[in-house]
Amino acid sequence: MIDGHGRKIDYIRLSVTDRCNLRCTYCMAEDMTFLPRRDLLTFEEIEALARHLVGRGVRRIRLTGGEPLVRKGILDLVERLGRLLESGLDELTLTTNGTRLPETAQTLYASGVRRINVSLDTLDRERFAALTRRDEFDRVIEGIGAARAAGLAIRINAVAMRGVNDDELPNLLAWCGERGMDLALIEGMPLGEVAIDRHAEHLPLSEVRERMEERFSLVPSLHRTSGPARYYDVEETGTRLGLITPLSHNFCAGCNRIRIAATGTVYGCLGHDQKVELRDIIRAGGEAALDEALDLLLAGKPLRHDFDVARSEPAVVRHMSVTGG
Ligand code: SAM
Ligand code: SF4
Repeated sequence: MIDGHGRKIDYIRLSVTDRCNLRCTYCMAEDMTFLPRRDLLTFEEIEALARHLVGRGVRRIRLTGGEPLVRKGILDLVERLGRLLESGLDELTLTTNGTRLPETAQTLYASGVRRINVSLDTLDRERFAALTRRDEFDRVIEGIGAARAAGLAIRINAVAMRGVNDDELPNLLAWCGERGMDLALIEGMPLGEVAIDRHAEHLPLSEVRERMEERFSLVPSLHRTSGPARYYDVEETGTRLGLITPLSHNFCAGCNRIRIAATGTVYGCLGHDQKVELRDIIRAGGEAALDEALDLLLAGKPLRHDFDVARSEPAVVRHMSVTGG
């Protein structure tokens, strides 16, 4: 699949639910209204869509949400999608808050998942409870342990926030390093209405990098994953630090992905409303109509997002949990 700007699209981020058992302040409001379950694609529909996309050249699928591991029966879906690894898919992975890993990590590995991203913004239990509005820190730590024991490679994702966790980011890098895990830092993006002041919490990662360099030797690395992180080798730990800078340094020229929401709405970009609705097309069973809709999406895929935290309105009204983070 090639988009209207000549970019090869071979990566899908697939949201399996907009629900979550946490309420991270930068991601959600406390009283979110979630989609009725009947609006979600069924596992059969997701599998059929994924198979079709792999047939069109998709090589990586990342399950996300909301929290992907809270969808009922999710391990069944992972197993089904894992079978695509034998017919063209190179990687099946997921992004999770980690709270359900203690009971799922082994099955994820058995289904063909080898690498996961776990989101953890702080190592302080109380801070975690304030940030996520839920007291689940111990479960996340337990989940990370279970995932490591199951053989999954882990990258920790943390949103860098001024006045919230900026003081502990070097410690977080050291903690990850001691456990052989890479760390990716993300700039908060203006997606959806939330209670926090995004402008006040905005922290350019160039500033974080300078602070990190007081303690670690960071060597620019050629390492790439399918995402937009730019990596540095951390000499002291032998692991990597990734920086994802949607605000301070635009990376859209290399965009290789589209995002499928749990309802079958496909978005060309996290920061725009351009979309096509696939659910009814999938339900009607027309492969040609599916291709037509996908081609329409690819042709109109925006060149770039235009996030600006200084604007008082969010870039799009959708929360990240809806599009699939
Ligand atoms: N619940 C899972 C998790 O937290 O890993 C998967 C979905 S979550 C939306 C995916 C990632 O998006 C997480 O790492 C989270 O920190 C990040 N995220 C959520 N809202 C964000 C925002 N407004 N700006 C930047 N990152 C955000
Ligand atoms: Fe849930 Fe992930 Fe959003 Fe936090 S970032 S509220 S864990 S979906």
